[in-house]
Amino acid sequence: RAKNGISDKICVFQDNMQEAFLLKYQIESELRQAAKSQHFELSYHPVIESQSDTITMIEALIRWPLANTTQLPDEFIPIAEEAGLIQTIGQWVLEHALDQFKDMLCDDHYKFRLSVNVSACQLCDNGFVNTVQSALEQASVAPQMLVLEITEAALLQDDQTINNTLMALSEIGVGLALDDFGSGLSSISHLLHYPFEIVKIDSSIVQNIAQPDSKQHDMLQGLSFMLDKLNINVIGEGVETAMQAKACSGMGITLQQGFLFYQPMNEAKVKSILEDESKANRLSLVHDAVNTN
Ligand code: C2E
Ligand code: MG
Ligand code: MG
Ligand code: MG
Repeated sequence: RAKNGISDKICVFQDNMQEAFLLKYQIESELRQAAKSQHFELSYHPVIESQSDTITMIEALIRWPLANTTQLPDEFIPIAEEAGLIQTIGQWVLEHALDQFKDMLCDDHYKFRLSVNVSACQLCDNGFVNTVQSALEQASVAPQMLVLEITEAALLQDDQTINNTLMALSEIGVGLALDDFGSGLSSISHLLHYPFEIVKIDSSIVQNIAQPDSKQHDMLQGLSFMLDKLNINVIGEGVETAMQAKACSGMGITLQQGFLFYQPMNEAKVKSILEDESKANRLSLVHDAVNTN
């Protein structure tokens, strides 16, 4: 057999295929086990209002802790979707996040909302609205405090059940956010047909707005004008530099999220930040009282 000939390549190709298949199979069965034992964790990433420098929302992000690493959702959520595990995992995320959120709110100095990412497969499930409602009741959290984030990709299948689910969620008071807007096949018809209250601008756009003459800058300016007309709130995602934050604010996009402000963090860290903020708040109230007396 000739070295590096076609047959060699076919062998390598088959080996890789088999390896990839086995790996996927292994991940899938480990994920099935993790879903059963609820072996996941949540990270939280704040959304800030840049003018007042306060936290207005925190987004729950799933993590899968393994022996020597932590798997990120982009790696395993697609596998969970394909394996039919996303409903179970998604329900855990919702219940767990609401439970921890309830704890974070115990100091009622602070009012901010919780957001949770959901997959298309969850919205296709007829029982999803009930799942959300029971989770809210269980945690005694008002529907208005919860926002569900849906990516554009989830809306591409134009499914009647998805449509009904989104309408029903909006009717019970749950907020809906269109996630990663501008990353793919962004369709403004989604904004007309679904009751989105928030649009999250994808980081790929935000990363290129610091130059005032970039296409992304001009596009975002126009987009933010349009969304304002439609009474939709805008969040700039993936803000990493002060220049990007300033450019967003300059266009009226004061709701921002990104590593410039915070890294995703665990529940304890969120609580300690809130405690510090509320202490600072009380101090400034005392200060105001002293000054006006
Ligand atoms: P996403 O909802 O758009 O979340 C934003 C992702 O970008 C997060 O990654 C976050 O850590 C990261 N990020 C935020 N700010 C910055 C920044 O300034 N710079 C950079 N480089 N990255 C930033 P993560 O946690 O790996 O999540 C990836 C995606 O996985 C999420 O994108 C979301 O679509 C999905 N996801 C996360 N949790 C869940 C879940 O519970 N259920 C479902 N269905 N999907 C989830
Ligand atoms: Mg999101
Ligand atoms: Mg996003
Ligand atoms: Mg994303």
